Amino acid sequence: MTREFEDRASIVTGGGSGIGEACALHLAEAGSRVVVADMNLDAARRVVDMIAAKGGHGSAFRIDVSDPGAVKAMVDYTVDSYGRLDCAVNNAGIGGPLKPLADYEIDEWKHVLDVDLNSVFYCMKYEIQAMLKTGGGSIVNMSSILGTNGFANAPAYVASKHALVGMTKNAGIEYSAQGIRVNAVGPGFIKTPLIENSLDAAMQDFLVGKHPIGRLGRPEEVAALVLFLLSDKASFITGSYHLVDGAYSAQ
Ligand code: NAP
Repeated sequence: MTREFEDRASIVTGGGSGIGEACALHLAEAGSRVVVADMNLDAARRVVDMIAAKGGHGSAFRIDVSDPGAVKAMVDYTVDSYGRLDCAVNNAGIGGPLKPLADYEIDEWKHVLDVDLNSVFYCMKYEIQAMLKTGGGSIVNMSSILGTNGFANAPAYVASKHALVGMTKNAGIEYSAQGIRVNAVGPGFIKTPLIENSLDAAMQDFLVGKHPIGRLGRPEEVAALVLFLLSDKASFITGSYHLVDGAYSAQ
């Protein structure tokens, strides 16, 4: 891998596990200094140790992304530590309870929207303010195939991931002329702790059957797309949504 991100500073939320972990490792391997931000500080530290073991530089930051004050503190910490913010992967998210819309408790609905949607508004708000000060940057928001498709019994997740696509388009329109590119990624089902811990084997087999490629995705397959979108190679790509889904959405 080339050191294309040398001298850059990046944030990955939810960087302690799964897709976020893979994104943090890819960014560090490409030369970026990476703030690995996660609710689970031990998990973030484990990823920072993996980065250091490969000769890279990262730091762990404990955060609940649904807290706007904490998100501002994360961005301030990055700029204080590295003098700038160039790239951000707004990835932290939860699945939420699996049940139909009318059975959702109001608090459950609000919690999923806080973690999966409002958090990304907070992240973009403070990340963009920081990026404007140094002339630009690149942001990737982690949506899902459920950013355009429905999925029974996940109404709050589906609503959040759809809204992320719209917010990404708007930010792309509003900031492209100022050197900030914003894109969203739509992974199919990816074998991460989110899937392995919340879905039984029968459900995982059912999901495999929904992907014409015949398997679930791997975190590094999502990270490869994220890294491309963050990189200068994607200089004309902004305000758009990019699938990595083994043909799930092609059906
Ligand atoms: P994961 O393995 O569960 O990793 C998510 C990480 O985010 C965990 O370390 C988790 O900590 C952390 N986190 C949860 N809530 C947080 C909060 N409020 N503030 C900060 N950190 C928080 O999940 P993943 O599968 O890699 O998913 C990452 C993103 O990809 C999510 O946005 C998800 O919706 C999206 N996505 C996933 C799939 C998939 O099939 N896996 C498909 C499409 C999109 P804890 O472990 O302590 O909860």
